[in-house]
Amino acid sequence: MGGSWRWSAAALLLTAGVGASVAAVQTAVSAAAAHPPPLRVARPSTTAPAEKARPPGKKLVVLDPGHGGSNAGARSVVDGVYEKHLTMLLARAVGERLEKRGIEVRFTREIDEYVSLRERVLTANRLRADLFVSIHTNASDARSQRGFETWVLTPRAVDIDARALRAEPAPAAHPGADAATALVLDDVERGLSQAGAAALAAAIQRELATRRGRDGDRGVRQSSMDVLLGATMPAALVEVGFIDHPIEGQELLEPEVQAAIADAIAAGIASRL
Ligand SMILES: [Zn+2]
Repeated sequence: MGGSWRWSAAALLLTAGVGASVAAVQTAVSAAAAHPPPLRVARPSTTAPAEKARPPGKKLVVLDPGHGGSNAGARSVVDGVYEKHLTMLLARAVGERLEKRGIEVRFTREIDEYVSLRERVLTANRLRADLFVSIHTNASDARSQRGFETWVLTPRAVDIDARALRAEPAPAAHPGADAATALVLDDVERGLSQAGAAALAAAIQRELATRRGRDGDRGVRQSSMDVLLGATMPAALVEVGFIDHPIEGQELLEPEVQAAIADAIAAGIASRL
């Protein structure tokens, strides 16, 4: 994963976090924008075939840093800082922890770029990931909410999505299967994934509560979230905290808080592999 410019710029951003002047944080963000990194293509193109099978026992997790590029996500309490910055940092921190446990990690984006929701899930499907976790920060109209929650798809959303996908079968996900069989296998996987998703979300939520306090536990929730639609493996979306809350928004910029959140997400993921 290497100490790229992105990481150092982002680390500076976080180090500058609480107590730093707004100008210092803005400088860090614009410095990051002013020096684009060498392009590192981490994910296969949309036409690439499914990857070769991994070594037996080697697990793969796809982490999705929410938003990116022109889609900045929610605005922080600190000017110039957006959700997309924090999700990238957190995803990298979670990835480092998982790799230390011998788990293979891929990201839906490695730089500050726009990636469609569809493309994010398709990346996980194409790589035949064991788990898919999308990382976000929350925001509320009154800027008064705080706490963390983890989302999974409703069974109805999974069902509707499975039908919608029939126009778009992915035989590459089932090498050797004909298109009709691949569709059936997709359905079976989706059904099995639903139980796994609930357990994954519960594990992440439990670990967050342990490290961030039970007061902030907003629970596991269900929705037809577009980010998760179409995933063929257990998938969850974690909202780690409210980036626009006057106190929690500042806390999310603290390196120690970031580390605690990354520890929690990694522990929750690892417990489900
Ligand atoms: Zn978001």
